[in-house]
Amino acid sequence: QPERAEHWTRSVCSYCGVGCELELGTADEQVVGVRPVLDAPVNKGHLCVKGRYGQGFAQSSRRVLTPMLRREDGWQACCWDEALDEVARRLLALQAAHGADSLGVLGSARATNEDNYLTAKFARHVLGTHNVDCCARVCHAPSAAALKTLLGTGAATSSYDDIERTRLFLVAGANPNENHPVVGARIRQQLRRGAAQAIVIDPRRTELAELATVHLALRPGTNLPLLLAMAQVVLAEGLHDRDFIARRVDELEAFAVSVREWTPERAAAICGVEAEAIRQAARLYANTRPALCFHGLGMTEQGQGTEGVMALINLALLCGQIGQPGAGLNPLRGQNNVQGSAHMGCEPGSLAGGIAIEAGRARTEQVWGRALPQRPGLNLMQMLDAAEAGRVRGLLVLGYDLALSLPDSQRSWQALKRLDLLVVQDLYLNETAARFADVFLPACSTLEKDGTFMNAERRVQRVRAALRPRGQSLPDWQILGALAARMGRGEGMQFESAEAIWDEVRQVWPDGAGLSYARLDRGGLQWPCRDEDDPGTRVLHAERFGHGVRTSLRPLDYRPSPEVCDADYPWLLSTGRNLYQFNAATMSGASALQALRPTDTLDLCAADAERLGLREGQRVRVRSRRGSAELPLRIDARLQPGQLFATFHDPAVLLNRLTSSERDRWVHAPEYKVCAVQLERV
Ligand code: SF4
Repeated sequence: QPERAEHWTRSVCSYCGVGCELELGTADEQVVGVRPVLDAPVNKGHLCVKGRYGQGFAQSSRRVLTPMLRREDGWQACCWDEALDEVARRLLALQAAHGADSLGVLGSARATNEDNYLTAKFARHVLGTHNVDCCARVCHAPSAAALKTLLGTGAATSSYDDIERTRLFLVAGANPNENHPVVGARIRQQLRRGAAQAIVIDPRRTELAELATVHLALRPGTNLPLLLAMAQVVLAEGLHDRDFIARRVDELEAFAVSVREWTPERAAAICGVEAEAIRQAARLYANTRPALCFHGLGMTEQGQGTEGVMALINLALLCGQIGQPGAGLNPLRGQNNVQGSAHMGCEPGSLAGGIAIEAGRARTEQVWGRALPQRPGLNLMQMLDAAEAGRVRGLLVLGYDLALSLPDSQRSWQALKRLDLLVVQDLYLNETAARFADVFLPACSTLEKDGTFMNAERRVQRVRAALRPRGQSLPDWQILGALAARMGRGEGMQFESAEAIWDEVRQVWPDGAGLSYARLDRGGLQWPCRDEDDPGTRVLHAERFGHGVRTSLRPLDYRPSPEVCDADYPWLLSTGRNLYQFNAATMSGASALQALRPTDTLDLCAADAERLGLREGQRVRVRSRRGSAELPLRIDARLQPGQLFATFHDPAVLLNRLTSSERDRWVHAPEYKVCAVQLERV
C-alpha cells in the first residue's frame, strides 16, 4: 500500500551483495511500500522480488523485543540491566578461568559496517582475543584469500558497470538470476542484445547457461581440473597475452610446466564435459577482449575452493583480462554486507580494511590506545573444533544462525552444546538461539538504524533508519558498547552515533579515509578512496599494474574430494539458495516472501523422476553418510541425470544434517556443494 506512505527513506536492500538502493515508504511505524531509487548507480531503478517484497521482516510478529535469559523452566524475559550483567559476569568468569582465547565473537553480514567494526573491536579490545570471524568463512573466504594472495586485495577487481563494457562473461559456479537478480538481469540483457557472449561453468543449465556460447556442465567439485585445462589450452595454442605477462606476471615457465599434463581430454574425463568444449571456452576467453568473470559459491564451497579461485585468477593473468574496463574478477558476495563484515575486522587474521594484523597493529593500537592480543586467533570452523574439544567456552553470535547453516549439523551441534555460554544477538529467536543459547539480546534491524553497507563491488553506501527501533531492541553497536561498560572495559567502546564509529574506521583504514558520511550522503563510493578529493576506484589494479607492480602465476594441484558416490550413495547433491528465500530465511521467512516458497525442495531432472516413479510434490527422504532429511520433490529441467539440488532455508527440513565436514585447505570453508546421498520415497 505505497499510497499510505507518509515518509520515504532512502536506504540499501540488506539481502544480496548487489546492494540495491531503495526507498522505504513508512506510515505508523510500518513499512507500507518499497520502490527502487531511480538514479542508483547499481540497480538503476530496478529491484528484485526480495528487495520489493522482502522488507517486512522488521515488523514481523516473530521479532523478539526484550532481552531473555534461559532458566531451568525455559526462556524468561528480563530487562537490559539484568541481561547485560549476566553476560558480563559470565564472560569475565570464563576469561579468568580459561583465558581470553576461550572466548569468541561472530559478526554479521546483516549488520552494518559500524556494527561489525565494533564487534571486532569488542573481541580484540574488550575480550583480548583474535577469535573473531563472520559468515564469510562459509562462503567467500576462499575468494578473499585467493585474490589477496595473488593480487594483494581480497575484493572484486571491477564494477557492476563493467557488465555493459565487457564483450564476454565468464560465469563460474554462480546463478545470478536467482541469487543476485539485478546483476543477473543486466548480464542477461547484454546477452540477449548480442552485445556480449558468455561461458557458463555450472552443473545446472541455468538461465544464463541457456544464453551462453559455451556451457560447461561439469560434475560438482571439479572446477579446478577444468580451469587447469583451459590454461593448458591457452598456453599450448599460444593464446596468452605476451605483452601483459612480460610487463606484469612472473613464473610463466613454472606455471606452464604445471599445467602441461592437463590436457582437455584428461580434464574432460574428470569433469564430465566434452574436451572440445573446454578448448572452445579457452579460445573464446583468450581471444575476446575485454572479458569479465563473475564467480559464486559453486566455486568456493569446495574442498579446493581457494585453489579454484586462484585458477580463475591465473587464467585472467595469462590472458591479460584484468585491470581494465570490462575485464576482471568478481566474487558475487552472497549477502549485502558480507564483504563489509569481514573487511571491518571480523576475521581472525586481519584488522579493519582487511589489513593483516602485523601490518596494521601499530596504527590500530595508536587509535585504540590499547595493545592488540599477540596470540593468533581462530576462525569460525576452528572455534567450533575448539568448542568441541572444550577449549572455546563462550561465544557471542550476532545475526548468524549457525545451527541451521553450518555443515554436518550433528557435529556442529555437538560443538554448540558444549559451550558454557552462548549469547545470540538477533532480531528473532533463530534456531541457534532457540536450541542452544543461554542469553538472547534483541538487536534492531537495518531498517531501524543508521550506518553503512559495503556491496560486492567495494561500494560503501548509507543505510538510514526508516523506523524507530521496535520494543527494547537496540543497534548492535550500542549493545556491544553497553556490554563492554558492564565488563569494566567500556573505554574506547562508547560512541555517540554510527558516524562517530565510522570516523574511527577511517582512521585505521587508509584506503577508506575519504569515505566520509558527508560524501556518502551524496551517493555511494568505491574504495580505495584515500581522501576527501579521491573519487574512489572503479577498476582495481589498473594503476597498480600500470606502475609496474608484478604478480606471479600460481601452480596448483588437483585433489579429488573424498566425498564420492558409490553403490550405497549413488546421487550427488549440491545445496544452494533460491530466488524467494535467503540463507537461513530468518529475514525472508519473516516477510511476504515466505508465502512464495514456504519450504525447501529437492530438485531432480524429469528423466530421473520418471525412472524412479516419482512425481512433483511427493515427499522423499535423502540420506548422506552423516544424516537424513525429508522434503518435497521438485522437477527441474536444469539438472543433469544423477544430480540433485536442494535449498537449505527451512529449519523443519534442516538440510545441513546431510552436508559434509570436508573443508577448504587454505581457509576452512566447508564443501557444501559435494554431498553423496541416497534417495527414497517416504
Ligand atoms: Fe536486494 Fe539483491 Fe534483489 Fe537488489 S538484487 S533488490 S540487493 S536482493
